[in-house]
Amino acid sequence: MKSLSFLAVGLFSGALAATVSQDATCGGTNKYTCLGSQFGNCCSSAGWCGSTTAYCGTGCQSGFGNCGSNNGPSSTVASSTKAPSSTKASSATPAPSASGSATQCLSDKKVPYKVSADAAYAQLAEPYNLRLPYKPAVIVLPTTNQHVQDAVVCGGKAGLKIQAKSGGHSYASFSSGGKDGSMVIDLEPFQTVALDKTSGVVQVGGGVRLGNLADGIYTQGKRALSHGTCPGVGVGGHATHGGYSHTSRSWGLAMDAITAADVVLANGTLVKASSSQNSEIYWGIRGAAESLGVITTFYMQTRAAPESVTYFAIPWTGIFNSKATFTNSFLRLQEIARNSSIIDDRISFGVYVDNYGTFSLSGAFFGSVSEFNSKIKGEFLRNMPTSGEVTVKPYSWYDYLILVAGKDSIKEPLTGYSEHDTFFAKSLTVPEKDGLSSAALDAFYTYSQTASSKSVEFYSIINLYGGPGSTINKKDTNFAAYADRDSLWVFQNYGQGANTVSFMNGLQDAVIKAQPQTQFGAYLNYVDPSYDAATAHKLYYGDALYARLLALKKAVDPKNVFWNPQSIGA
Ligand SMILES: Cc1cc2nc3c(=O)[nH]c(=O)nc-3n(C[C@H](O)[C@H](O)[C@H](O)COP(=O)(O)OP(=O)(O)OC[C@H]3O[C@@H](n4cnc5c(N)ncnc54)[C@H](O)[C@@H]3O)c2cc1C
Repeated sequence: MKSLSFLAVGLFSGALAATVSQDATCGGTNKYTCLGSQFGNCCSSAGWCGSTTAYCGTGCQSGFGNCGSNNGPSSTVASSTKAPSSTKASSATPAPSASGSATQCLSDKKVPYKVSADAAYAQLAEPYNLRLPYKPAVIVLPTTNQHVQDAVVCGGKAGLKIQAKSGGHSYASFSSGGKDGSMVIDLEPFQTVALDKTSGVVQVGGGVRLGNLADGIYTQGKRALSHGTCPGVGVGGHATHGGYSHTSRSWGLAMDAITAADVVLANGTLVKASSSQNSEIYWGIRGAAESLGVITTFYMQTRAAPESVTYFAIPWTGIFNSKATFTNSFLRLQEIARNSSIIDDRISFGVYVDNYGTFSLSGAFFGSVSEFNSKIKGEFLRNMPTSGEVTVKPYSWYDYLILVAGKDSIKEPLTGYSEHDTFFAKSLTVPEKDGLSSAALDAFYTYSQTASSKSVEFYSIINLYGGPGSTINKKDTNFAAYADRDSLWVFQNYGQGANTVSFMNGLQDAVIKAQPQTQFGAYLNYVDPSYDAATAHKLYYGDALYARLLALKKAVDPKNVFWNPQSIGA
């Protein structure tokens, strides 16, 4: 049935002038074509635009783009001479001579790099999110600051757009350029983790993954930082765009621990940025590093790792049985989240829901198991549906990191990282003063029930950022170029399947429309490629913060060298 309807859609699209895909989806209900799209000219069997054999080969939908090859004879990642894709003027893919002159310049300056003809290119070019596999014109692999400086000058002179890559986990593959034909400065060789035991400040190479960072500071001096749970995520993207985990209500975001950074600017100079040196750059890189330069080294203030963390998890059954049960249950949790006799800065938690009817809560408490059990646990169970087995367990700091990583170890390989996913995700920040209304929760519930009919698998994690004592919300936009300092909740809405983009957009729209009095925002670490630049700037930064960032951008990168589709000035 499905293939018949695809065939019918394919025939139609051949006859009508199809809309070029703006969100990487093709075929399906929207009937977008990939021909001329910035994502690649082939439409895969799953309904995504791309240019590799996964898109142009078996199952490729010829009604919505090319099949067999993306553009010309080559259908593999290996082509770096692809004709320009139809992006807007400021992001137009440069002519092949631009990448040629960049590589000549890199060779002259003895800067290591790879291009598509090199065997290592395909693995290096592969982003975490395989839905958006852009093809950089050149991937630079610097081993010194001077290499980064030279590469930035070479790329800028050649007219290439440049993005740094740390862990490569950008939801929108911005560290691959966010379009084909960019220069990627891959910081994989920058793997230093050096703890100064006297000050507690750790020097962190721009390519270090969070698991190796956590392991390094713990092993070197029993120290800890607040950061996300996935050990493969890189410090470069994560810490410059927020960085949340269940330590954040106590210790703040990963960003908040950055005391200084070594930054290569668009003119090739290397500067130290801190509260006392280049303070405006220091302000700006904590929120918009990708638009301002390449951070080769971070300096971060660690703290003593706690002896013990109390982990808790509560699954409930039957919450999705009715809209009223779902909405009332979440409203009860929201009531707890705002109650200072239950919640202080020592506790963080998130609610997980998915299209299988799961509704559970998990988090961390920097207090004892007995205090949690006597003061908090009962509140989570009171006036809620029946729960499944409740877990409340103490962990050593290191074992806690392993637990929340969901792996056997937090250590990650220094080269050849190979974990990937294919997905579309969005976020929604919910202002502290408003919280979520029952109408918004009703709308979330009703829309979520349509997932199976649309062949989408999704989950949402709704993390508590605000509430009594939250360290995250004690700072404001004077501290860093980061606007999300007054959220009660932050949603991550993550989906997979052919109709994911429209489904996830619809889910979020349903919530927003049901609560029109609220100005929702979006979280910078869950970059959403479905937004145009202006919308992204508004949702991530707001007007005042964006204006200050734009002024800084014009001062330090007047030619807009550091670019992705949503960067400052895009
Ligand atoms: C599996 C998974 C789990 C996650 N878990 C969490 C979580 O628990 N909490 C949370 O807050 N977020 C989480 N995230 C989101 C994550 O924090 C962001 O995707 C983050 O931006 C990825 O950082 P990266 O260095 O790996 O990404 P990259 O793709 O390398 O970089 C992302 C952006 O930052 C820029 N950038 C990277 N390094 C530098 C640098 N040195 N100098 C200048 N610009 C740079 C890049 O150019 C790009 O624009 C998760 C993501 C994934 C995929």
